[in-house]
Amino acid sequence: MTKPLSELTTIRVGGTPASLTEVFTRDAIIDECQRIWASGEEWFVLGGGSNVVIADEVSNLHIIRVANKGIEKTGHGSIRVQAGENWDDLVRYTVDHHLGGLESLSGIPGTVGAAPVQNIGAYGTELADVFVRCEFLDYLSGEVQILEKADCAFGYRDSIFKRGKVGVITWVELQMLVDLPAASGELLNRRRDEVLDLRASKGMVLSEDDLDTHSCGSFFTNPIVTATFARTLPEDAPRWHVDEDGDRVKLSAAWLIEHSGITKGLALGAAKAAVSNKHALAITNRGGATAAQIGELARFIQERVAATFGINLVPEPSFVGF
Ligand SMILES: Cc1cc2nc3c(=O)[nH]c(=O)nc-3n(C[C@H](O)[C@H](O)[C@H](O)COP(=O)(O)OP(=O)(O)OC[C@H]3O[C@@H](n4cnc5c(N)ncnc54)[C@H](O)[C@@H]3O)c2cc1C
Repeated sequence: MTKPLSELTTIRVGGTPASLTEVFTRDAIIDECQRIWASGEEWFVLGGGSNVVIADEVSNLHIIRVANKGIEKTGHGSIRVQAGENWDDLVRYTVDHHLGGLESLSGIPGTVGAAPVQNIGAYGTELADVFVRCEFLDYLSGEVQILEKADCAFGYRDSIFKRGKVGVITWVELQMLVDLPAASGELLNRRRDEVLDLRASKGMVLSEDDLDTHSCGSFFTNPIVTATFARTLPEDAPRWHVDEDGDRVKLSAAWLIEHSGITKGLALGAAKAAVSNKHALAITNRGGATAAQIGELARFIQERVAATFGINLVPEPSFVGF
């Protein structure tokens, strides 16, 4: 089976691959990966397609789409979740079962198996706060490995999976907060609703009708610079200390973009790729944009920010086939 990957990615770009295989069980993921890897052909593991920019021409690429489902209790507050489970369905499940820890991560698109890849985070919470271990099929060794939290080297939008550990995650185990006070069910629900409202106001909850959500979410990570460098920036540039001695400072990529002259809604000429009208950090597809146009706009933003502030913005999504 195959079809254009623009139909399977939230930014709605990507050409037609050589093949597209959906795998619905943990064993099928392993069999299919081993088969493709043995062939020596180009391959890519796709989840919900919400953090990838796939090139317009990918006719020699084989796609393995992870779609195994299931949430299983493995202990007191610990759950094992299959990689293809929808992330926000999992958050809803935990809130419904009075399990605390994920409510602030409500509304993030994509699958559970992709969540460790960039250690998804929002509103002061990140996956690493509840992550215990995952199962991983390693491309280099061909082995099935159990990776504990310490093995994954989680950081801000970062993990070992972004730093050369190539393969596929088949399930993830999380330790949730349990034995919460009686009123906590209400509090978890309220927090989830607050987060969903806030995210929707920024175009960060997927919606068919809202073109500002046809994106990869934040297109660039917030840069981390030295405190010395941060002092060269305008005083009103937002900054947060990320270590105890204050040597490293996180900046707001959205602020840097807006203050380098990029306005919300900006598009280059007649291109259908545009900065979101709701959030300067998202690049959106207004209908019919190509991957090349998305890439051009991203480069334009990077050049403006580099020329204005001397900072290289690093894209958050994976680029495939460029
Ligand atoms: C509107 C919107 C809002 C967003 N908001 C946030 C946010 O608040 N915080 C945040 O952190 N992210 C956010 N994102 C980014 C995105 O939702 C997350 O990164 C998500 O985890 C990606 O999941 P996915 O299944 O769609 O991954 P995909 O886009 O399919 O893949 C992303 C990467 O993970 C790899 N991958 C996928 N599945 C597996 C697997 N099973 N094993 C190994 N590798 C795998 C892929 O090869 C690729 O490199 C947002 C995106 C959108 C569109």
